[in-house]
Amino acid sequence: MKDLIIIGAGPAGISAAYEAKKLGLKYLVIEKALIGNTIYNYPVGLTVFSTTDELEFIKNDLQPAREKPTREELLSYYVKFVLDNELKVQWEEEVLKVDKLGENHFRTITPKGEYESKNVLFAIGAMDYPRKLDVKGEDLLKVHDHFRETYPWVKKKALIVGGGNSAGEAALFLADEGAETTLAIFRKDWEETDPKQGCIKYWVRDPLVEQLKKRCLNLFFLGKVLEIREKDVVLEDENGKRQVLENDVVFVLVGSDADLTMLTNLGVETEFGKYGEVPVYDEETFETNVSGVYVAGHFTNTRHIKGAIEVPQKIIPKMAEKSADVGSVKAKA
Ligand SMILES: Cc1cc2nc3c(=O)[nH]c(=O)nc-3n(C[C@H](O)[C@H](O)[C@H](O)COP(=O)(O)OP(=O)(O)OC[C@H]3O[C@@H](n4cnc5c(N)ncnc54)[C@H](O)[C@@H]3O)c2cc1C
Repeated sequence: MKDLIIIGAGPAGISAAYEAKKLGLKYLVIEKALIGNTIYNYPVGLTVFSTTDELEFIKNDLQPAREKPTREELLSYYVKFVLDNELKVQWEEEVLKVDKLGENHFRTITPKGEYESKNVLFAIGAMDYPRKLDVKGEDLLKVHDHFRETYPWVKKKALIVGGGNSAGEAALFLADEGAETTLAIFRKDWEETDPKQGCIKYWVRDPLVEQLKKRCLNLFFLGKVLEIREKDVVLEDENGKRQVLENDVVFVLVGSDADLTMLTNLGVETEFGKYGEVPVYDEETFETNVSGVYVAGHFTNTRHIKGAIEVPQKIIPKMAEKSADVGSVKAKA
């Protein structure tokens, strides 16, 4: 019987594992893909927007060559952190189900085994369901829901649909490296400059404006995407006018959502907020309405890596304390 099963080895899961280890808890992290899988899926060579103090588990531990780390430096830091600290992480093992067997007693089921624990922390991120446009042709092979690298698209006609930083970065990479790039974006997203609104960050937007001036990038103020076809795309502009653009590849980068099924099957309540559907949890402990079930990271209201790391640092000691109290009550009974 473990004290804690942690589902997901992103920044939140790794941070939780490190705290659990420091406290001497019996814990295990189970990760369906790779350590830091969301970062692994960032575009190759991307410089992240956060500063090192927002990304590291221990102060001054992350030492990139420049002010901000690249995808590769960040991923290497997370992988080495797991290995150097001998954190108990099993990757390439997907959690399929968590059953509640009794009060603070859970069984976590994967294709490789079953694990019993007193507590379960969901640190599953929000990358499971990339949002779709729901238009005809979206299932064509040339349509991608995530952007990896530019080189297959040099001199190709690329369309990026989206208004956030990921769409902006993809457009910049593609325009920079010689793809004939069109960014289809709602005008309000292009004109939004408040970083809290999830808009394109200024250090991506400014070079995009440069690319526009150099005519290496086209901006299309979108009404809606009507259809994607083998050789072109049919768009409606902001004035309702239908336009057909020649096209070789489409990137639909309009965000993604978490899979909350395992949580709701356990009886965890959810609510709709700024980020869509999120689990309901105690603001201090991040424990849900199901005792012993905790949440942390990018599918809660605390988004981004800073929050994903800080929340487990705060809640794991509280969880350990509560578990010890429950244990002593059970022992006395
Ligand atoms: C291109 C891009 C650039 C970004 N840049 C930044 C940045 O500069 N700064 C910043 O703060 N944020 C950035 N973000 C957001 C950042 O990646 C997330 O905030 C961060 O990864 C959240 O960490 P997490 O641990 O909560 O979730 P994740 O990192 O998403 O980790 C969740 C893990 O859970 C695993 N998992 C899910 N379901 C299961 C299951 N059933 N069984 C087992 N494992 C499971 C997943 O495989 C994944 O590895 C960026 C995002 C993108 C897409």
